[in-house]
Amino acid sequence: MAAASPTLFSPAATPTPRLTDSLGRVIHDLRVSITDRCNYKCIYCRTGEIGPQYPELSIEEYLRLIKLFVDLGIEKVRLTGGEPLLRRGLLDLVRELARLRTPAGEPLDLALTTNGHLLNGLAAPLKNAGLRRATVSMDAVDAPTFERITRVPGSFQAVLTGIRAARTAGLAPLKINCVLLRGFNDSQIEAFAQFARQEAVVVRFIEFMPLEEDRLWSPEMVVPLTEIVARVGRVLPLVELPPRELSETARRYTFSDGVGEIGIIAPVSQAFCGACSRVRLTSDGKIRTCLFSQVEHDLYGRFRAGASDAELGAYIVRTVQGKEARHHIGEPGFLKPSRSMVHIGG
Ligand code: SAM
Repeated sequence: MAAASPTLFSPAATPTPRLTDSLGRVIHDLRVSITDRCNYKCIYCRTGEIGPQYPELSIEEYLRLIKLFVDLGIEKVRLTGGEPLLRRGLLDLVRELARLRTPAGEPLDLALTTNGHLLNGLAAPLKNAGLRRATVSMDAVDAPTFERITRVPGSFQAVLTGIRAARTAGLAPLKINCVLLRGFNDSQIEAFAQFARQEAVVVRFIEFMPLEEDRLWSPEMVVPLTEIVARVGRVLPLVELPPRELSETARRYTFSDGVGEIGIIAPVSQAFCGACSRVRLTSDGKIRTCLFSQVEHDLYGRFRAGASDAELGAYIVRTVQGKEARHHIGEPGFLKPSRSMVHIGG
């Protein structure tokens, strides 16, 4: 009789759950919008006339729903909005999320995306509550341009102070996301590269996507990866860094002296849908399997109707199976998604 394979009896033979879609992509990254409200009216994102559109759940409800995903194999949770720092109960939510364990017994990779306006007062409490890292959105490094974008006087200084507080608190790596629009803030590219070095932050440039409340987007407004690399490289020679994981969205670069890092996220000119590992939960508890989904899946509705955890888990598994293969930005017949970025959770 042939000897039994040792793996049959080793602990490694117990598979940890993996949430996968019909294309075999492993989904391990959940983004949760915890409020639809925002204190900025960034002109490329919001009209300035439309306020919050969707309700919020209680902190306990977010926790229950997020736990369902974690039990299915989600390893990374990013809280976003709207503006998540506006949300009452945020510290309690972070504290509870920090206690969760993945099926493999690991703590979550717990992150937050914020405009940074309230970060000065909240960075240390968030870190103490168990937040690991933060991404701050910042679309200009000079105050007048920044405040023209956010439409909030004093916002530049508030965000800069917030970034420094987050660094001091040890929210690391600290990433700064900058959405570039041609003719509008692309003059900031080279200054942002210097900013990354001076402030010891990772600056990531993001191509503008058709996700705004208004109708601004055109292919000509997108500043593509190749152009950003060429422009930064003329001032400070760049060295490309190897990807850390397959689903990494950013192409990463350091400078030739090894000081500082920038990244470029190019969903338009170099789409990375084939390696997408994400799913989203909106502030009102709908699952979105793609930023550009035309349909949403009402997890919260089922929860409110009394579905059991097993039934909700099965619903998540089925929903993720149907994740879209890719987006169709720039193609004829492209349809804008049913919600804009601020109402989805970026
Ligand atoms: N209020 C938080 C913040 O400012 O980071 C979280 C929500 S905000 C919608 C998340 C991110 O989406 C921000 O970095 C913002 O710049 C980005 N964003 C908004 N509209 C976008 C668009 N049309 N294309 C690409 N990124 C966009």
